[in-house]
Amino acid sequence: MLYQRTVRNPVRGRGVALHSGEHTSFTILPGSVDSGIVFIRTDLDPPAEIPARGDQVTSTRLATTIGRPGQSVGTIEHMMAALYGLGIDNARVEVGGPEMPILDGSAHRFVELIREAGGTIAQRRPKKFLVVRRPVSIADEANKRSVRLEPASCFQLSYTIDFNHPLLSMQSFEMTFSDTAFVREIARARTFGFGKDVDAMHKAGLAKGGSVENAVVIDDFSIRNPEGLRYPDEFVRHKVLDAIGDLALLGAPVIGRYVGVRAGHALNAELVAKLLSDARNFEVVEFETRREAQTQNLELPAFRIGGLAPA
Ligand SMILES: [Zn+2]
Repeated sequence: MLYQRTVRNPVRGRGVALHSGEHTSFTILPGSVDSGIVFIRTDLDPPAEIPARGDQVTSTRLATTIGRPGQSVGTIEHMMAALYGLGIDNARVEVGGPEMPILDGSAHRFVELIREAGGTIAQRRPKKFLVVRRPVSIADEANKRSVRLEPASCFQLSYTIDFNHPLLSMQSFEMTFSDTAFVREIARARTFGFGKDVDAMHKAGLAKGGSVENAVVIDDFSIRNPEGLRYPDEFVRHKVLDAIGDLALLGAPVIGRYVGVRAGHALNAELVAKLLSDARNFEVVEFETRREAQTQNLELPAFRIGGLAPA
């Protein structure tokens, strides 16, 4: 049996928010079965609850923001990727401001904080999966950008970037999702930006918290980060991380193949909305056993990290 999961203990963190530059704290609390991921703005009176679902996306400019005007939370995608990557279905994420802290610019610190606090725990309810039944795609043909989700036997991702820059020309990455593959191959990949854009944003009072502490900053022929890259193809791996965080807004782990080409949060959000807009595109299913999934030619992902039986 594959059970739903939550965090075993409250997970506390704090850090600077990328866009506002404000210091913000957050706490990931255990969530009850079938409750999904819910953000709570604890700095508002009364606190505002925002479910992490595709229909709650309000902005995809630079990062993914969910909620309502005055009651939103931004830059959620790296935390969402960490929760998805560790197989966490249910959690309440309290955040003390309008933007999640950026931490190190990847999902790595979120993963570490969750593991340091005791990891995940299985709950007495079967895990739900979202099985893609019909291909859905979004294309921006003028800019050669596209995203697609199509039926497949397991969760696979394929991503290609091709920037007009010597360090960022054609990079591709393919993976079959598992929690161990996520932690090893994806979680540490940091967000990135071009030095001239970062400098212009700082002048305009944007990306105030952005620095080489939480992003790879790229100049014409080199990067500003003295420690170098964490993976030789860190950029495309970060795009995979962002895609996982954005697909987490489908509300259940995906069984299907995602293909992204030069895309970003905006196209991912449109893809999630389009898939969910027609009930024939997908099916939400539970399986008593892996074998039952195999009889339908579906391979459920392995969740080996913190794999504890229900308490
Ligand atoms: Zn990102």
